[in-house]
Amino acid sequence: MVIRETKPVIFLFTFPLQGHLNPNFQLANILFKRGFSITVIHTEFNAPNPSNFPHFTFVSIPDGLSESEASNPDVIELLHDLNSKCVAPFGDCLKKLLSQEPTAACVIVDALWYFTDGLTEKFGIPRMVLRTVNLSAFVAFSKFHVLREKGYLSLQESQADLPVPELPHLRMKDLPWFQTDDPRSGDKLKKGVLKSLKSSSGIIFNAVEDLEAEQLKQSLKEFPVPHFCIGPFHKHVSLSSSSLLTQDMTCLAWLDKQELNSVIYVSLGSIASIDESEFLEIAWGLRNSNQPFLWVVRPGLIRGTQWIENLPKGFIESLDGKGKIVKWAPQIEVLAHRATGGFLTHCGWNSTIESICEGVPLICKPSFGDQRVNARYISDVWRIGLHLENEIERVEIERAVRTLMKSSEGEEIGKRIMPMRETAEKCLEPGGSSFMNLEKLIAHILSF
Ligand code: UDP
Repeated sequence: MVIRETKPVIFLFTFPLQGHLNPNFQLANILFKRGFSITVIHTEFNAPNPSNFPHFTFVSIPDGLSESEASNPDVIELLHDLNSKCVAPFGDCLKKLLSQEPTAACVIVDALWYFTDGLTEKFGIPRMVLRTVNLSAFVAFSKFHVLREKGYLSLQESQADLPVPELPHLRMKDLPWFQTDDPRSGDKLKKGVLKSLKSSSGIIFNAVEDLEAEQLKQSLKEFPVPHFCIGPFHKHVSLSSSSLLTQDMTCLAWLDKQELNSVIYVSLGSIASIDESEFLEIAWGLRNSNQPFLWVVRPGLIRGTQWIENLPKGFIESLDGKGKIVKWAPQIEVLAHRATGGFLTHCGWNSTIESICEGVPLICKPSFGDQRVNARYISDVWRIGLHLENEIERVEIERAVRTLMKSSEGEEIGKRIMPMRETAEKCLEPGGSSFMNLEKLIAHILSF
C-alpha cells in the first residue's frame, strides 16, 4: 500500500450539462470535506466557474465543438460529439496530471463519458463512475437490450398503456426514451454507458438505498461492481453554485410575501423544451388556477422564441402580482421556502430528490429519458404527486394545480411525501444508509 503524506487526490471529470454539473460538484464537495484533494477536469463547453470553488484545482480540456455542434438541440448527438472529440484531449490531460500526481487515488467520471471505458485503466488509474439518475430509472436503462429485443421501444401509440412485464410499475410509454432524431443514436448511448459502468471500479449514485432497496438488488445483479448510494448529495454539505445561468434571487423576496404553502413552483429543468402553444396552455392554466405561481421560463425552453415575448398583451398585468416569471431560479432555496407548496416539474432526478427533501409534492410533466420513469414512480408507486399524461392543456394544468394545492386528495399526497423526506434526512445521520455507504466509498477509494 502506498503511504500518502498529503491529501489523496481525486480527478473528477465533470459532464457539461446542468443536471450533471450540480451532482458532480456536490460529490466533489462531499469528498473534499472528507479529506480528499479534488482536481476538476472540465470541457470548455459549459465550463463551470472556478471562483465558486476556490478549494478545487481546475483543468480545462479543449472539446473542439463547433458553434453549431455546441448549440445542437439534439442533446444525444451532442453527447456523442463530446465523447468522440474528448478522447485525445482527455488522454493528454490525464497523462500530464499523472506525471504531476503519480499517486492519485482514482478518476471519477460522470457516466455520460462512456469513452473513458478502458482508457483510464490504460494509464493504470482506477475509474469510478458517477451515475446521476436514481436506481429505478437506472434499472430501466439497464434492461434496454431486452426491451429493444422484445420490440417494446418501437411500439404503436395504442400499446402505450400496456404494462412492461420486465419492469413492474412501468407502462410501455414510461420506458426511458431519448429525444433524438435517430433512435440508433439513443441505443449507442445506452450501450456505451452500460459497458463503461460494467468495467468500472464502482458506481456512485445520488440515491437513497432505503427508498429503492429492491432496485439496488436488481442493479447489483446486472452490474457486479460495488454500488455506493450516498444521496441526497445536496444535503451533505452547504453548497456553492454550479449554475450555468444566473439565478434570479428576487424570487426569494417575492416568495417572502406569499402565504404559507400557497405557491406552485414551475420548472421543466435545463434541457426539456416545449412549443409555443404548450407554453400558452401552461400560462393560462396557471393563471386560471388562481394560485400564486413562480415559473422558470429558461431562454430556449420555448422552441422558436427568445423568451416570453409571445405572451398575450396584458397577461402579466392581469395576474395582479400573483405570478412571477424568471429565467432561472435558486431552485433548492425556492423548494425550501415556506411559501412553496407544490412543484410542477419535468421530473429530472435532481429536481425530484430536491423536492422530496423539502417535502414539496409534485405535478409531473415528463419529457424524455429517466423523467418518465420518475413520473410513474412519483404518481403510482410513491404516490407523492399527480401525473399529467396527456397533451398539455390549460384545463388540465388548472385542475392539477387546484387538486394539489386545495383539495383533500392534494392533502393526502402532501402527507405521503413526509415519510420519504424523513428517510432522506435520516439516511445521512450516523448509522444511516448513506452515511455508512459514504464510509464504505471512502475506504474503497483509499484501498486502490
Ligand atoms: N435548477 C436551478 N434553477 C432553475 C431550474 C433548475 O438551479 O431555475 C437546477 C435544479 O436545482 C437541478 C438542476 O438544475 O439541480 C436540474 O436537474 P434535473 O435533473 O432536475 O433536470 P435536467 O435539467 O437535467 O433535465
